[in-house]
Amino acid sequence: MVSYLFRLYFKPVSPLLIGGIREGVETYFLEERGEKIIPFSSWKGAFKRVSELVAKSYNDPILKSHIDDGHENPPSDEAEKIAEKVCEKSCKGSELKKTEYGFLFSAGGSYNKKEVVDLISKFLAYKQCPIEGIYGSELFAGKVVFSDSLISSSTLIELTRTTIDRKTWTVKERHLYTEELLFPDKIEVKVLLRNPNDKEIKLWKETLDFIEKLGLQIGNGKSKGQGLLNLDVKESTFRKVDGTKISPEENIEKFR
Ligand SMILES: [Zn+2]
Repeated sequence: MVSYLFRLYFKPVSPLLIGGIREGVETYFLEERGEKIIPFSSWKGAFKRVSELVAKSYNDPILKSHIDDGHENPPSDEAEKIAEKVCEKSCKGSELKKTEYGFLFSAGGSYNKKEVVDLISKFLAYKQCPIEGIYGSELFAGKVVFSDSLISSSTLIELTRTTIDRKTWTVKERHLYTEELLFPDKIEVKVLLRNPNDKEIKLWKETLDFIEKLGLQIGNGKSKGQGLLNLDVKESTFRKVDGTKISPEENIEKFR
């Protein structure tokens, strides 16, 4: 079992807003116990979007069927085989329970063939898909864990935006709103990737490559170019955890 611990540093190239509380016309940056933070869930969402983008270029039938948070029409050969064996007029839960995929069904249930094929093929797609493997699915937890990031020092930018009335070309008065944007000096996030398989490690490396080249977008206002972060390759590090052995911290470049 080999896991990896990353310490990644980012430098923002545009101000960011992690959707906090909205009070009237003001949107505040997310805070926890008086500290501005980027929560682990924002990191996870941002990294997952990059992995999904990277995986689009793979010529893999499982990944081809990956759409947003699930799979559409995944390969179903294995599921058809099981359904063929178990189903007569209907498929009995008690018989399905005896198969390898019994945990997906309830013993008292009765299913039609399509339901059985859908459930098993979806489960198998999740199991074989490195995106769910890394980030988790509705059926099991993922292998990556992100920390929250405290924003220690940053410049505060209060940006007032307006909406223009297209008929009169004047500013709509009720459409003035202010956003609390931050421009942090640097942001640190710790990431643990537990026991990835070959497909998952390949996707993770390519995800980091993509982020190094094109940056990572996080928080509100992506269409306005807000929250674009550059990975600081010089400062970012990783360690390898093999059983109880932890390797010394090395530069992220060595992870390739
Ligand atoms: Zn998937």
